[in-house]
Amino acid sequence: MKIAIFIEKNPVTGKLRDVTAELSAKASSLVEPFGGEVVGMFAGDELPVNSDDLFSSGLNRLVSFSEKRLMDSHTIAIKNIIEKMILSEDPDIVLFGATSLGREIAPLISSSLKAGLTADCTHLYIDDFKDKGKILYQVRPAFGGNILATIISPDSRPVMSTVREGVMKVPESMNKNEIKSEDFEMILQDNWFINDFLKILPKEKKVHFNRSDIIVAGGAGVGTRENFKLLSDLADMLGAELGGSRAAVDSGYIDKSRQIGQTGAVVRPKLYIAFGISGSIQHRAGMDESSKIIAVNSDPKAPIFHISHFGIVEDMKTIIPVMMRYLKEDLNG
Ligand SMILES: Cc1cc2nc3c(=O)[nH]c(=O)nc-3n(C[C@H](O)[C@H](O)[C@H](O)COP(=O)(O)OP(=O)(O)OC[C@H]3O[C@@H](n4cnc5c(N)ncnc54)[C@H](O)[C@@H]3O)c2cc1C
Repeated sequence: MKIAIFIEKNPVTGKLRDVTAELSAKASSLVEPFGGEVVGMFAGDELPVNSDDLFSSGLNRLVSFSEKRLMDSHTIAIKNIIEKMILSEDPDIVLFGATSLGREIAPLISSSLKAGLTADCTHLYIDDFKDKGKILYQVRPAFGGNILATIISPDSRPVMSTVREGVMKVPESMNKNEIKSEDFEMILQDNWFINDFLKILPKEKKVHFNRSDIIVAGGAGVGTRENFKLLSDLADMLGAELGGSRAAVDSGYIDKSRQIGQTGAVVRPKLYIAFGISGSIQHRAGMDESSKIIAVNSDPKAPIFHISHFGIVEDMKTIIPVMMRYLKEDLNG
């Protein structure tokens, strides 16, 4: 039995997507009782920097096509390369991650190869089916999750499935297979490159206020995005989460998900450091139960000082570099 898996790279980090190792481990457990191999198929600008790690999660062989021009947006090119690889490898089963790219190319390939495709599988297993011998059983939620449907494609080959990230688990310890990589030969055509991304931006970091002991927050008084970057650097040094007032959100300094207050998040960290925040009643509603509050404000009459345990009357632009210098000295012993 041969199972092929689609290898994907995170274009921002250059590393393998987690789902790739998950598919590899699942494919390895599916072929194990029958003997056979798990083959990875990659098409992109260059291999993920950690592609050898796949041989520790069940992969037996990696077939790859790397070409500088190839980006995730070139779905037609990637689809054509992967389809050619499938035709050349002739696997029984092909697994894709249910990522944006996997979801786009898997149906194109399955319709081109007239193969069955089941999306968003939550469980996969091999069993007998009538006179067809061993086939893949694909389980997925249906009718809004009210039933689990088991889907088979006994009359088409290969059988294709997509699986969401995090659904299949990689066992803690797996034997490392010998690294076997092969380059795939193919001539690309210019009309496969009809669309392009101008830039790939990393996603805004998820906000975890409730996991942070320290929150560094800024308000309208921070003044500019560049100054907010200083706050963000300070937060990184402290291992803190970054937050802000509604005025900071309205000024475009931070994302709405980071707003603290009556119409934002309610937080109770061990330490809340407020820079350039006046301390309106609506802001206080989200942070006044913090164990310790330090406020930095150039106006000594700012209401934030009524609830702060330590107050610094000063321009935040003067205070932040001083704090960072002390922290650096502290961190360097
Ligand atoms: C229904 C409703 C819901 C709301 N919900 C929220 C909410 O969830 N969260 C929230 O925050 N607000 C909320 N607001 C808005 C709230 O009323 C205030 O407008 C807002 O909190 C003010 O934000 P701020 O303190 O950053 O700005 P400001 O009130 O403008 O204060 C800026 C402060 O920065 C100081 N400052 C200026 N320059 C410097 C400097 N260089 N260094 C140091 N300090 C400086 C100033 O002295 C001033 O005190 C809500 C309002 C309404 C009506």
